[in-house]
Amino acid sequence: MSTMNQKTAKTLSVVIPCYNEELVIWEVYGRLTSLLDSFMQKELIKDYEIIYVDDGSSDATLRELKLISEKDRKAKVISLSGNFGHQPALTAGLTAATGEMAVSLDADLQDPPEAIEEMILKHYEGFDIVYGVRKSREEDTFFKRFTARFFYMFMRLMGVNLIYDHADYRLISRLALNEFKRYKEVNRFLRGIFPNMRFTPGIVHYKREKRFAGETKYPLRKMLSFAVEGITSFSNFPLRLAFILGFFNFVAALGLVFWTIFTKIQGNAIPGWASIVLPLYMFGGIQLMFIGILSEYVGKIYLEVKSRPVYIIKESFNFDKPL
Ligand code: UDP
Ligand code: MG
Repeated sequence: MSTMNQKTAKTLSVVIPCYNEELVIWEVYGRLTSLLDSFMQKELIKDYEIIYVDDGSSDATLRELKLISEKDRKAKVISLSGNFGHQPALTAGLTAATGEMAVSLDADLQDPPEAIEEMILKHYEGFDIVYGVRKSREEDTFFKRFTARFFYMFMRLMGVNLIYDHADYRLISRLALNEFKRYKEVNRFLRGIFPNMRFTPGIVHYKREKRFAGETKYPLRKMLSFAVEGITSFSNFPLRLAFILGFFNFVAALGLVFWTIFTKIQGNAIPGWASIVLPLYMFGGIQLMFIGILSEYVGKIYLEVKSRPVYIIKESFNFDKPL
């Protein structure tokens, strides 16, 4: 695409959250840098910065990042005071980004950086948010594939607007980035926040690779809490479900009353144990379940009301002003 001229070419920020990624840091740095340099050469972009956010790693990640920042001015580093999680780390990087457009990318090279080119072209066509969508899931284990499918199905059922098979690989325009900063929620589910902005989505398909090195930071436990986060942050449907179920229970109970009167009149009412005890357990269970759901939302509200900072920056390197 050497036809892209200097006038339309924009500056690009690439944001990479890193948590215990010492094994991949240099690889992702090398691959990205040569790719972005080639973009500059063919004037696809005017300039770039790569923002690495160290999310409180306990390995040598931060040390390696510092080395990179010393040798390359375009490599900027944000060091958080501890482990805040993937979404807060991403938020820290996006907030600090100075480019006219920004791409977020995982450190492990599962999202091949080469797809950024198509994302930029899509953006130049006029899309404010371009979502990276994975082509297939053949790399995944059966379990991951199954749970992922279930996750998207369930989210749709709950009325949460998500882009199917899109993780956190996306390009955002400066306009969307500025608007993003107005989303103040402490409970961060970026995959829900961006579609919530309603910009017409641009889609770029890419083949998701295997993790380059190291292991996943999303074990099943974290995956589950991520899903709960997504639902309770973007849908009130579970709360409404309590009303719907309660209503049907009420109607059924009403029917039962009429039936009881009817059998009483007929004179053949049977003194029943089951008819008393079974509903007792059932409704007890339903009530407990919904108290649980309710607590989930109350907990969310609790966190939002306190509105604690989403992340805390300890140090930053190569930024014009200290963050
Ligand atoms: N990550 C992070 N903080 C965390 C967990 C993960 O910054 O607490 C980063 C991690 O370094 C990676 C990205 O988030 O760049 C996605 O994590 P991972 O690749 O382990 O997740 P998976 O691809 O297995 O879902
Ligand atoms: Mg990964």
